Amino acid sequence: MTQVAFAPDVFTWPAEEPALIGGRCVPCGSITFPAPGSCARCGSLEIEQHMLPRQGTLWTFTTQGFLPKEPYAGGETAETFRPYGVGLVQLGDEVRVESRLTENDPDKLRIGMEMELTVVPFRVEPDGTEVMTFAFAPAGEA
Ligand SMILES: [Zn+2]
Repeated sequence: MTQVAFAPDVFTWPAEEPALIGGRCVPCGSITFPAPGSCARCGSLEIEQHMLPRQGTLWTFTTQGFLPKEPYAGGETAETFRPYGVGLVQLGDEVRVESRLTENDPDKLRIGMEMELTVVPFRVEPDGTEVMTFAFAPAGEA
């Protein structure tokens, strides 16, 4: 099956160890994900690509319990939608990233737990191409 990345400029994939691609402001060192066009802190346009740590800690989370409103790029319909977890994951001391989580059971998630980046199927195109996106999984389960 053909697999493509949902947003190839946002994470490295296919890769043995996929990573999120952030941006680091050269003058002030501010790190942002996804990489911004200009630095929110100092306004500089000098942003260099910066690979983020693949592991972090869960800072907060919720469960997306209903189909998001348009525009929503996932392939589900109201019939096929399954709730998914959404979290803010703190990556090192660098940046906090909002991400889909592989776990949607709040009883299996806790603030401060170790999380690891993984790549999961997001939707399937009519021609069978599988579109992949990044998500965070509890460390050891990715
Ligand atoms: Zn800056």
